Amino acid sequence: MILILEPNVDRSAEPFSQLAQHLDSLKGIEYTIHDVHGRGQVLTEVYLLGDTASLSRDAMRSLPCVARVVRVQESYRILGRHGEAQRQEGFTYNGVTFSQDTLNVFAGLCAVDVPEHVEIMMRALKEHGQPCTRMGAYKPRTNPYSFQGHGASCLPGVFELAGKYDIKVIAMEVTHESHVEEIDEALEATGHPTGVMLQIGTRNTQNFELLKHVGRQKRHPVLFKRGFGITLNESLNAAEYLASEGNPNVVFALRGMKTGGGDPHRNMVDFAHVPVVKRLTRMPVCVDPSHSVGSRDMSPDGLPDVYHVTAQGVISGANMVLVDFHPNPAKALVDGPQALRMGELPWFLDDVAIAREAYLKRRSRADAHHANPTS
Ligand code: PEP
Ligand code: MN
Repeated sequence: MILILEPNVDRSAEPFSQLAQHLDSLKGIEYTIHDVHGRGQVLTEVYLLGDTASLSRDAMRSLPCVARVVRVQESYRILGRHGEAQRQEGFTYNGVTFSQDTLNVFAGLCAVDVPEHVEIMMRALKEHGQPCTRMGAYKPRTNPYSFQGHGASCLPGVFELAGKYDIKVIAMEVTHESHVEEIDEALEATGHPTGVMLQIGTRNTQNFELLKHVGRQKRHPVLFKRGFGITLNESLNAAEYLASEGNPNVVFALRGMKTGGGDPHRNMVDFAHVPVVKRLTRMPVCVDPSHSVGSRDMSPDGLPDVYHVTAQGVISGANMVLVDFHPNPAKALVDGPQALRMGELPWFLDDVAIAREAYLKRRSRADAHHANPTS
């Protein structure tokens, strides 16, 4: 059960102490308190654990400071919506807001190779007013002899260039808990010129010990990739590990499913789940068209498949796009065949904006219908 308190509740004031005293007196019930920082207000939520079935909703609703009471399903207690359309969601990190209403594009290198390519990428992003990017330093590879990423050695250079080009958030995969420490050390050594969104890759979706470790730190938000061979419910439960350990600032990424049914795409594009994840949880939803499609193939209408599936995600309300670019895809050390070319950046961003505009129009049309169901 979750008690949603009145906005901006003062935890040092008498009504809150009365509430806490009452909760302390409940036998067999433990509770934890979480602040959810949203636009312009802080909502405090109290999570009650234990024998909550015996608690009456009305009695809990009448306690001081309590605005709403939500009975939660067993799964995704913190990240879930539990039928509440208005539960506060979203977060701001290093000046960039992530919510189910915003849209941020993370165009960048799948893997950091040479500093020149990092710089070309970041300069182009700055020219186009983009504050976010993706940069892989630790690459989980199918083949042990493939390039594994430059790891910690490339981090200071990447972070310094990010500072130079006003990049605020870099999505960067971590495959081991020590990588979080290495990232923190490099940020510290370079004077925190940028922020890092820690990425959990699809191969680690159910690496629960890694999830617990990443969930225990609250410095960085997390980009959590859906598992490519498990159900959506299993992936959402895995994301909940991050929140249950203390970090609810999680973006959920769809990146396609491994099934021959998606051929000739690298994976079966699963962006029909954008609205589903938004309905079931409060997480902003990311789409990764590059790892879904896996190539630069173009259809006769002149639009590459990567553009088409990006638009399909964005027109359904996606909140983030993670997309591979490379100044010289033929030389890329990882995933060159799917990387878009630098010269395409303005075209790609315009194509995203067109899809976003269509989504916002669709929302207004839906609002009009719900206000007047015969319209
Ligand atoms: C990536 O984004 O670089 C990546 C490896 O993605 P995924 O975990 O979805 O395969
Ligand atoms: Mn990749």
